[in-house]
Amino acid sequence: MIKHSFCDQELIPIGISSCLLGERVRYDGGHKGHSYITKTLGQYFDFRPFCPEVSIGLGIPRKPIRLWRNQEKKIRCVNMGNTELDYTDELTKCGAEQKEWQQQLCGYILKKDSPSCGMERVKVWGNIMPIREGVGVYSRCLMDNFPYLPVDEEGRLGDPALRENFIQRVFAMHRWRDMVKTGLTVGKLIDFHARHKLIIMSHDQVSYRQLGRLVAATTRENLRLNAASYLASFMETLKLHASRGNHMNVLQHIQGYLKNALDLEDKQELVQTFENYRLGQIPLIVPLTLLNHFFKKFPDEYIANSWYMNPYPAELKLQNEI
Ligand code: SF4
Repeated sequence: MIKHSFCDQELIPIGISSCLLGERVRYDGGHKGHSYITKTLGQYFDFRPFCPEVSIGLGIPRKPIRLWRNQEKKIRCVNMGNTELDYTDELTKCGAEQKEWQQQLCGYILKKDSPSCGMERVKVWGNIMPIREGVGVYSRCLMDNFPYLPVDEEGRLGDPALRENFIQRVFAMHRWRDMVKTGLTVGKLIDFHARHKLIIMSHDQVSYRQLGRLVAATTRENLRLNAASYLASFMETLKLHASRGNHMNVLQHIQGYLKNALDLEDKQELVQTFENYRLGQIPLIVPLTLLNHFFKKFPDEYIANSWYMNPYPAELKLQNEI
């Protein structure tokens, strides 16, 4: 089994639009290879490429297709030069047929703007100017079938906050799948929640309380139902932007675990570092590094087990930019 160095885990299975891996499957015989995806994320992810347009037999090269709003105001996926050639049903069927391998995935990276693969804001053509309101036909099936799956587009991965958010969700999903692989129990769900509490708190305080209540109310009898609700709500919460304000709350909460250990000078250093972070003068990695330094001297089991301190491989440097 292929493994990466982070906690000696296996590579994480991620679906991806084939053209983003450099496969020459686009309508013009080209590709959209993306070096951050292949070189950086490829160290941790086991990519499962798929091209829906090639899969339905459109060939390479081929006439481009696009989303088009017809007379009945329905959005269809048609040939660019001939709207009679409608591929919507074939692409939808193709999307439905991929469910089996897709259910192993921990995330999916889609090609932006594509009438088949685009996640959002795909151009929909009509009589006048196109409007960016569409979703690719294949990606619509994917997201409908797996609403909790972390999905994003390569274009959005250029934004540090969106990139961090997506990768954090992928690693969280991977940990969830790891947990259920060996059989879910109430104890495992409680432990999963305990280790993710601070991450949840950094995204949304209300969900933090709701998820806590859901876990507390879980018994062997309602485990399956509650676990499904937990996963849906957990992944939805992680999609929310983790603001500096929320991170500040979490950092101060963590500081509480050091209150009897630190001397005045160390406390002042921590407070000043948090303040610099709050003001946007330094990235999240700085207060986290300082906290980790103190916890090395004064270990705490709860903090050591919390994924907030170590949500993904440090080499990805995601906390250096948020
Ligand atoms: S965007 Fe999707 S359909 Fe288009 S070439 Fe890439 S993988 Fe194929």
